[in-house]
Amino acid sequence: MRESRYNVWEERADAAYVYNGVSGALLRIVSEDLPGVRGYLAGEREAEERCSPALLADLIRGRMLVRDEFDELGFLASRYHLGRHDTRSFALTLVTSLGCNFDCPYCFEAKHPSIMNADVQAAVLRVLDDKLPEITSFSVTWYGGEPLVGKRSLLALSDEFIARCDAHDVFYRADIITNGSLLDEQTCAELRERRVGTCQVTLDGPPEIHDRMRPTAGGRGTFWGIVKNLRHAVAYLDVVVRVNIGGQNFDRVEELLQMLAAEGFAGKLTVYPGQLVGVDDGAAAPSATYGHHCFTSPEFARAQQAFQDLTERYGFSSPSLPRATSAPCTAVRANELIVGSKGELYKCFESVGNRLEVIGDIHQYQEANGRLEKWLKYDPFADTECRECVALPVCMGGCAHHAMDPKLYNNRCDTFRYTYQEQVGRFVDMAEREGLEGLASATNVAARMEKAR
Ligand code: SF4
Ligand code: SF4
Repeated sequence: MRESRYNVWEERADAAYVYNGVSGALLRIVSEDLPGVRGYLAGEREAEERCSPALLADLIRGRMLVRDEFDELGFLASRYHLGRHDTRSFALTLVTSLGCNFDCPYCFEAKHPSIMNADVQAAVLRVLDDKLPEITSFSVTWYGGEPLVGKRSLLALSDEFIARCDAHDVFYRADIITNGSLLDEQTCAELRERRVGTCQVTLDGPPEIHDRMRPTAGGRGTFWGIVKNLRHAVAYLDVVVRVNIGGQNFDRVEELLQMLAAEGFAGKLTVYPGQLVGVDDGAAAPSATYGHHCFTSPEFARAQQAFQDLTERYGFSSPSLPRATSAPCTAVRANELIVGSKGELYKCFESVGNRLEVIGDIHQYQEANGRLEKWLKYDPFADTECRECVALPVCMGGCAHHAMDPKLYNNRCDTFRYTYQEQVGRFVDMAEREGLEGLASATNVAARMEKAR
């Protein structure tokens, strides 16, 4: 047996912890057992006698210890292949309105205002009808533009999805990515009735900053209107606030968190940082000229750690570790599609609104054009850096769009690549407070802690 290449160790006074990215498990090894484990991992024959069989079994179950001949990279490659071609779950991202009532200078969409009409809705339902006999779960992300500008089609489609999935015993769930300006209380109740669980809203700083980064199409501020809506939204939905960070606003993040805490939101919503990227795909999206404000990936990874310190301090997050993944996003999963408001199909969120990236039409969804191929051929296992990367099991090649664009290639990575030691260390601090014994899934430890919060 030998040690997995995806172990991350963290030492404490009376124990060591080891996290493994392939399993997502964390194991606590008390000091007395450490010399035996270290000797065993170093290949000392007699060390096995100093390791308890139960501890060795935990190391194997947590994939921290693997057979000498076990090909971890081959195992991950087949996990990636199976995940990307999984036909039991089906997912759609639906752009109910490509138009938006905001005009953010970093938006990566070239917006041509239009609302999803009845003809496109009927075509979406025909696709679901085709899929229902073979799937066990169907998930939807409501997306835009601003999806609530197209609320009527969102509600009508939701009712049909729920009726069809319930009739076929298919699990249905949905989430929404919205700018938050149209989230009045009635809308929140309507969304919850339509099984929308998580609602992602963006606030980019205190009012002075946010209103500059996320003004209305007429140039007015939007901060307080969103906060007013969040006061009731948290009673209906799991609200996640995204803060897009870059050089122009990072030093004002704490003020935003103080304001949200003063509003009584601590423990009621979570806050996380998003990375801004200047995307220039030739579609004249606003973000094409925004790159100079953006963090590079290593800078963003560092900023994320400082951000996490703040969100923990103000009660807006607790530490977590990335979960092992198969295929990271819609772009590379064969059974997922993004449907534009006119029925045009895309694979990548950053392509929405870009005519050059349309892969087909919902009315003939099985007849995609040649542009689909590049997404389904994307292979992180052909990339030397990915093959050698400690983050591979949780990242699986990261953002395919960025990886395939020479100007964005260095922005493709999961932050775990740059700050894995800090991320595991932060999580271990929580595990120590939690009183972790032996082997646990990092997800369960986080959930236990979240409950206790
Ligand atoms: S973090 Fe970067 S190098 Fe590592 S697997 Fe992901 S994309 Fe590849
Ligand atoms: S390829 Fe990148 S930008 Fe496109 S959907 Fe995936 S993660 Fe998002």
